[in-house]
Amino acid sequence: MVSEKMYDKLAKLVAVKGVNVQKDQPVVIRANVQDLEFVKKLTRYTYEAGAGSVEYEWRDNDLNKMSYQYMSDETLAEVPQWKYDKMKYQQDKGACYISIVSDKPGVLADVDSNKINIANMAYYSKMDDLMAYTMNNEGQWCVVGVPSVEWAKVVFPDLSDEEAFEKLGDAIFKVTRVSEDNDPIKEWEDHDKEMMDHANKLNEFNFKKLHFTSELGTDLYVELVKDHNWGGGGNTTPKGVFFDPNMPTEECFTMPLKTGTNGIVYASKPLSYNGKVIEDFWFRFENGKVVDFDAKKEKESLKQLLDFDEGSRYLGEVALVPYDSPVSLSGILFFNTLYDENAACHLALGRPYPENIKGGVDMDKEELLKHGANDSMQHEDFMFGTREMSVDGIKEDGTIVPIFRHGNFVF
Ligand code: ZN
Ligand code: ZN
Repeated sequence: MVSEKMYDKLAKLVAVKGVNVQKDQPVVIRANVQDLEFVKKLTRYTYEAGAGSVEYEWRDNDLNKMSYQYMSDETLAEVPQWKYDKMKYQQDKGACYISIVSDKPGVLADVDSNKINIANMAYYSKMDDLMAYTMNNEGQWCVVGVPSVEWAKVVFPDLSDEEAFEKLGDAIFKVTRVSEDNDPIKEWEDHDKEMMDHANKLNEFNFKKLHFTSELGTDLYVELVKDHNWGGGGNTTPKGVFFDPNMPTEECFTMPLKTGTNGIVYASKPLSYNGKVIEDFWFRFENGKVVDFDAKKEKESLKQLLDFDEGSRYLGEVALVPYDSPVSLSGILFFNTLYDENAACHLALGRPYPENIKGGVDMDKEELLKHGANDSMQHEDFMFGTREMSVDGIKEDGTIVPIFRHGNFVF
């Protein structure tokens, strides 16, 4: 059972280690209204850690749904200037961002996906240049989850509200490395170190390509950009502030060459996209581009994901996650990417992380493109790792080095 004490520990962990709030720094907390009690704890710890101010951006699944149902396409396509100005102001002041997820998966399942697409497209186009703040780790940010009954009932539909909530809560705290009697900050320091060791080893190999195979039929070659850099276990801002953007995180990730992916990949978990749950899908890649695909459920949503913009049929990220990661061992499908992407090797369609090229965060868009990076307004992760996943690294001279066997690192 999750105790008050554990919520306290989680709040402190997020403030001190997650975003690592600096003295007098502004903090922006994005949360669902149902998470008010946790936000109060979080607020206290961020101030205790030195925050100058804390601001809130509240949302609610049902209200959000109603905007899609009642607003016209024209209104949905309008992003007012003040929204841009507000975020720009926060960034200019050097704010850090905490996002709390507790959303009900599939809440927008019966909303016209065209409307969601219109709103997203408008938002991302308007905010495009502001996205760099978090994508380039210019300021600290952290995404973390807390349980909600609505979410728990989707994950455990056969349990009572109370039982489902408790079970989801136990799982969330466990994979976030918070327990009644541990020191989660220390746990996270050790975990970050282990992840960085893996990333360092992968960087030393300096592979040209990765080759993935799985029992689902995946047979995929992913060429990496030259001078790629493997990330894992936290990030550092230009001011030298170390932070953990995702809690949990179990991935080592880097940047694929935009035109260098070939073969077929079968997803191993459903994907929540725009409030819909896409299931049993695959992609066939040719020279980096998705040229064919299918899905047993929500194929139309998958098509919208792929046709979002120029770069949304190309990869922006490839990530290695051991099958024995705590999220994977929980055996739970969370229907939320923050958790599910840490249960399995994954790929992301769309925008890459500039940090995945050496010196990339100081490059402008043109330079990144010259290095073979993809560009897109969206970044959508999907999972394809399995119990029997094999990964080989192929060096420039053709040498093959095993990286994963039976779903886990061999080194
Ligand atoms: Zn990832
Ligand atoms: Zn990703």
